[in-house]
Amino acid sequence: MAVDSPLSSQLGPPACERDAKALHFIEETTSHADSVQDRVLTEILTRNSQTEYLTRFKLNGATDRETFKSKLPIITYEDLQPEIHRIANGDRSAILSAHPISEFLTSSGTSAGERKLMPTIKEELDRRRLLYSLLMPVMNLYVPGLERGKGLYFLFVKSETRTPGGLLARPVLTSYYKSDHFKTRPYDPYNVYTSPNEAILCPDSFQSMYAQMLCGLLQRQQVLRVGAVFASGLLRAIRFLQLNWRQLTQDIETGALNPKLTDTSLREYMDKILKPNPELAECVRHECSKDNWEGIIARIWQNTKYLDVVVTGAMAQYIPTLDYYSGGLPLACTMYASSECYFGLNLNPMCKPSQVSYTIMPNMAYFEFLPHEPDSFGFPCDSPPKLVDLVDVEVGKEYELVITTYAGLYRYRVGDILRVTGFHNSAPQFHFVRRKNVLLSIDSDKTDEAELQKAVENASRLLREFNTSVVEYTSYADTRTIPGHYVIYWELLGKDSANSPTDEVLKQCCLAMEESLNSVYRQGRVADNSIGPLEIRVVKNGTFEELMDYAISRGASINQYKVPRCVNFTPIMELLDSRVVSSHFSPASPHWTPERRR
Ligand code: AMP
Repeated sequence: MAVDSPLSSQLGPPACERDAKALHFIEETTSHADSVQDRVLTEILTRNSQTEYLTRFKLNGATDRETFKSKLPIITYEDLQPEIHRIANGDRSAILSAHPISEFLTSSGTSAGERKLMPTIKEELDRRRLLYSLLMPVMNLYVPGLERGKGLYFLFVKSETRTPGGLLARPVLTSYYKSDHFKTRPYDPYNVYTSPNEAILCPDSFQSMYAQMLCGLLQRQQVLRVGAVFASGLLRAIRFLQLNWRQLTQDIETGALNPKLTDTSLREYMDKILKPNPELAECVRHECSKDNWEGIIARIWQNTKYLDVVVTGAMAQYIPTLDYYSGGLPLACTMYASSECYFGLNLNPMCKPSQVSYTIMPNMAYFEFLPHEPDSFGFPCDSPPKLVDLVDVEVGKEYELVITTYAGLYRYRVGDILRVTGFHNSAPQFHFVRRKNVLLSIDSDKTDEAELQKAVENASRLLREFNTSVVEYTSYADTRTIPGHYVIYWELLGKDSANSPTDEVLKQCCLAMEESLNSVYRQGRVADNSIGPLEIRVVKNGTFEELMDYAISRGASINQYKVPRCVNFTPIMELLDSRVVSSHFSPASPHWTPERRR
């Protein structure tokens, strides 16, 4: 029931006193976006004034925006490599931040094939927790009664390593789930998960998923929302259920846990809650044994009000599949975040995926916006770009996000392109347009054109002894299967028809491509099973000429035509698929270990 609070909010009547405070915070912060940004920049520059980085650029203690903007360069990760390298190797001096670097967060964005290392400081966990604490108060405005049930969220930790200097390096969510902020969070009726910490923190991904699914099935009547971080993760859970429902229902029927679950604390927890329940087992079996899995989420978890998953950006490709398995349940995208910084939240989370806008919270970092010219690469050296402040962006325009964080990133280009859709008070709201330079993505992997080109070059070396070369290629992220996989279309030119490459050779080409791709891709293939084996589809000679003819018939200029290195337009894919002469899949997993290549 809504409360009558002195902290009333134009967002709507809060569901409880705690929500009232959170909504009030959102209103206050977004109403004074510019002064909050001023305060944030002053705090960052004051506390870090003696750092090597700020000293190098002769800021001399200045904290005003003008001096900051005139003296500090706009940078990318590559520019910071030397500093990151020193920190990773154990230099504990105040290089970027006056606060000690507590660990590195490993981004899914890569540099030279390895995850980028983002330095972070302890107090960033408080900022992350703060943003998380705003999500349910906003959701409660739209979906009443969530305190009467639970969330079935599939959450996982991933492997971590240490840098040569001894700092932990791990993904931001792994860091968060392993922190006391998460592990010892106080009871909150609006935020109760079916998955226990023992399952979420279990490092073995099979055991973790199995236990989370089992807990979700055991508590199916209480589940009011089902989610994962990204859409691909939720679909992986559905696939897991397809593969394991027989064993899961047997466990429920007999009350005896699958012996494959060997993690001691997980077993202890499950032994406490698992009791024979033949009726529930029969009910789940009845649904899962049907050939048709359409609407399976709503059929098993009948009280589900919405799916909580990111379906914006690269994840939009999963919307039709999620709609299929959920029977069209609403999809809620609640927040926009990265390893570098958590940015903001969706104040209208039950809107359609195409309408999602994220409101950047001005307290999280200092934000600037680089106007984005869709077809320009970088910017000319003689005309430094004019960056726009948070409150000055213009509706309808696209910008690249540039951040200055408490942890010591200064004017750092995140690589995300955002379009302004409107304002909440004086804080702008953004549609996530895309991440720059991403050609292919299935899960959190991001493969760019140069990486694909290199992979094709490496693989095509195997064709030399057959006097065969790859004359043209393009690619496509096939998400019709779970997990999805990369498809690479090759047109080959063979000079010796009596000695053309065999299926076995082309399979090895698939593997060679996978070996060349970045470590996030290979981790998805090997450790997370979130990406299926890469496929090469060999097309008939002349297919790429037909592709060009098609593009020209639709208005492309013959002089400027370039083969698209990734396709997703249905008629083009139909054309390609109708010319396929053979198809080959990678026969093995590529090499991957948590250790970074030095
Ligand atoms: P990572 O550094 O691996 O944490 O990845 C962060 C990146 O994921 C962001 O910079 C975005 O490109 C993408 N991302 C995060 N949240 C969203 C979202 N809600 N919608 C679309 N893309 C997102």
